[in-house]
Amino acid sequence: MLKIIEFPHPTLRHKSKPIKRVDSQLRSVIREMFDLMYAANGIGLAANQVNLPLRLFVANLAGKQDEGEEIVFINPVISRERGNEEREEGCLSLPGLYGFVRRSTSIRVNAFTLDGTEIDQEVSGMLARMILHETDHLDGVLFIDRLSETGEITARDTIETFKRNFEDQARRDPDLQPQNIEAHLREWEARYC
Ligand SMILES: [Zn+2]
Repeated sequence: MLKIIEFPHPTLRHKSKPIKRVDSQLRSVIREMFDLMYAANGIGLAANQVNLPLRLFVANLAGKQDEGEEIVFINPVISRERGNEEREEGCLSLPGLYGFVRRSTSIRVNAFTLDGTEIDQEVSGMLARMILHETDHLDGVLFIDRLSETGEITARDTIETFKRNFEDQARRDPDLQPQNIEAHLREWEARYC
């Protein structure tokens, strides 16, 4: 059973290696990721956010199972970044926190879908922003790393609260011990990367 992990869980800082194979277990992981994303009212969810070191994210800009299009981006690569714009973002791993982040307005994205089809697209607007946010996750980068100085000051107290809550949980939950997280990530990497 997967669940969405919250900042500052160490897996959110893990830089994921490319995926080399897809099997039925990975397909069910992806289905579960979509379900968790919808339940949390998100439009994108990266594997790091469910404590997995896999270079993939799921997305549906409509945020609802029966609407929009479900896309799985495997091993995404961003290039040709153009323009920039500041917009408010949130993150399912930092629930309740929002902040303005400056990002490129248009990008090229290369990736593979679950059935092995290649994605090679120029995208812009909200789709580009979501892809940049999720690809950041795969590199261990969070939107709070990209806040302006003012944004950082505003977010500081909430970020400290997340840290304290995690420390409390980590004291009680063996799954949150650094060596156990490390072993879990290595096991999944050995299987898919
Ligand atoms: Zn996020």
